Amino acid sequence: MAIDVESLNARGKAALAALMPDPVALVSIDGCGPGGNFGREGYASGALRESIDAAWVCSYAALTGSEIGKLPQIRVADVPAVFERAREVQRYWAGTRFSQRRDLMQKFIDGVVHARDELLDLIQWENGKNRACAFEEVYDVVANAAYYGRHASKLLAPKRTGGAVPLLTYTRTYHHPKGVVAVISPWNYPLTLAISDALAAIMAGNSIVIKPDSLTPYTALACKALLDRAGFPPDLLQVIIGSGPALGEPMIREADYVMFTGSSATGATIAREAGEALIGFSAELGGKNPLIVRADAPMPRAVRGAVKACFASSGQLCISIERMYVHTSIWDEFVPAFVQEVEAMKVAAGFDWEADMGPLIGESQFNKVREHVEDAVAKGATVLAGGKALPEVSQYAWAPTVLTGVTPEMDLFANETFGPVVSLYRVASDEAALRLANTTDYGLNAAIWSSDMRAAQKLAVQIHAGAVNINDGYAAAWGSMKAPSGGMGISGIGRRHGLDGIVKYTDAQAVATQRLMHIGAPGRIGPLELGEKKWAELLSVYMKLKKWIG
Ligand code: NAD
Repeated sequence: MAIDVESLNARGKAALAALMPDPVALVSIDGCGPGGNFGREGYASGALRESIDAAWVCSYAALTGSEIGKLPQIRVADVPAVFERAREVQRYWAGTRFSQRRDLMQKFIDGVVHARDELLDLIQWENGKNRACAFEEVYDVVANAAYYGRHASKLLAPKRTGGAVPLLTYTRTYHHPKGVVAVISPWNYPLTLAISDALAAIMAGNSIVIKPDSLTPYTALACKALLDRAGFPPDLLQVIIGSGPALGEPMIREADYVMFTGSSATGATIAREAGEALIGFSAELGGKNPLIVRADAPMPRAVRGAVKACFASSGQLCISIERMYVHTSIWDEFVPAFVQEVEAMKVAAGFDWEADMGPLIGESQFNKVREHVEDAVAKGATVLAGGKALPEVSQYAWAPTVLTGVTPEMDLFANETFGPVVSLYRVASDEAALRLANTTDYGLNAAIWSSDMRAAQKLAVQIHAGAVNINDGYAAAWGSMKAPSGGMGISGIGRRHGLDGIVKYTDAQAVATQRLMHIGAPGRIGPLELGEKKWAELLSVYMKLKKWIG
C-alpha cells in the first residue's frame, strides 16, 4: 500500500512547528547572539549565503523522502566563537547550586512529557523508525534527566578520603566541571543520543556544544528548544550544524572534553584528535552483538524477546542483536517459531503504534544492508526470512532478515550491518556459544535466554561485552540508569550512566590539609631529635604495618 506522503508530511511539519516555530534561530552560527555578526535574518532569507560562505544543510524526512528544510552550516572559522560564548555561559553556570540545576531539569522533564507526541512525530518523520522505538528515546531522555537531576549533587559531593598520614592529614576530593563539552552524535537515536549525555554534563556544571548528524538535526534542535523553554540559560547548550569530518577537529581543539557516539572508525579519529589536544573523551561505538539461546530458554518468551532484540529501530541500534547462537537441542523448536514471528512483523511508514519496524534512514544505510545480504547469499548463506527490499512500504524499507549458513568469508560475519539482519548459528554447548560470541573485536552488548539464572550469570561474566542482558535483548541493561553503560574492545572507551557517566565531565581535585606538622622530618621535638634518619626509621616501621592498614 502506497504511503500518503502529503498527510505524513503535514503531521511532521505540525510537530516541528509546535516544538520550534523558528528552527534556524536555534542554530549557533558564530556565537555572537542570534545571527552572529551577519544577522539571523540574512541566514533565514538566504541572502547572505554567498557573501559569508555558509552552506546550507538540507534535511530529508526518512519517513517520506521529502525535504524538511535547510539549516545554516557553520564555517570552520566561526567554531572558536561558539566555544567562546559557551565558555562565558559556563562560568556563570558553574556558580549555580545543584538545587537550581535540578529544578530546571524537572521543568525540562515536564516539557518533554508534555511534548511527547510532537517529539515522537518528529523523531519518526526525520528518522523513519516505528513509534514504539521513538518512544524508547523519549523515555530515555526523561530517565537520564530524572536520574542526574536528582542524584548529581550526591554523586559529585566533596568526599572526605583517607589522608597521607592518619589523623594528621585531612583530605577532601572535589569535582570541578571540565568547562565546555563537545557532543558529537549520530542519527539512529537522534533524540536521546544528542541530549542524554549532555544532561549529565550540564548537571556537573558544564556548557555544551552539540554537533548532531546532518541526517537528523531537527530532533537535536528540539532538545535545545525544550531546554530553553525550561529556563536553562540561553546558549548553555548550543547546536552547530555541519559535516563531521570538517567540524570534528576544530571542535575538539576548542573543547575541554568530547563525548562521541558513532562508528568505531570515527571513534578512532576522535581519540587521536582528543589525544593531540590533551583532553578527555568518551566514545560509544559500534557492535556486532551476540545472543545466546541456551537449551533451557523459556519459550515462547525467548522468541518474542529475540525478535525485539534483533529488529528494534530496524536494527539501526548500536546494541541490537546481529548474531544468535541457538543450542542444538532447542533449534527445531526455536528457529521455526522465531522465523514465523519475524515474518509476521508489520513493516510500515507511518505514525501509528502498530508498526514493528519502519524504513531505514536513507540510501547509504539501505545500500549497506542490501550489499551485506547479497554478499552473504552469493557466498552460500540461506535466507530463512526477508532478504529483500520492500518498495511497496517505502523507498528504503528492508524486510527483517534471518540468515543461516553464515561463514567468516562473508562481510556480515564479523562486521556490523546496523540493519534488520540477524545470522543464526547452531551450537552444541554453552562453551561453543561463548567461544563464538567472543570472536569479534567488538564488545558492546550481549544477551542470554535461559531458565537457569545461576548458569546464565556464570556465562554472562565471560562474555566480552560492556552489557549483558539475561532474558532481555538490550533494554534491561540500557535502562539500568545507575549501572555503567558502554563498550569493551573497539565498541567504546568510557561509560555513560551511573557515577561514571557524570564523573567523566569533571576534573577531580584533592585538597589535603596537614594538621600539627607538615610531612617531613620534624627535627627536634622537646628532648627528642627526629632528623631525616630517625624519621625514615619511623616510616620504615609504618611501611611494615602498611600492608595490614592499606
Ligand atoms: P559516524 O561515526 O559516521 O557518525 C556519527 C557522528 O560523527 C555524526 O554526527 C557525524 O557527522 C560525525 N562524524 C563523522 N566523521 C567525523 C569525524 N571525522 N570527526 C568528527 N565527527 C565525525 O557513525 P554512523 O555510521 O553514521 O552511525 C552509526 C554508528 O554509530 C554505528 O556503528 C553504531 O553502532 C554506532 N552507534 C553507537 C552507539 C553507542 O552508544 N555505542 C549508539 C548509536 C550508534
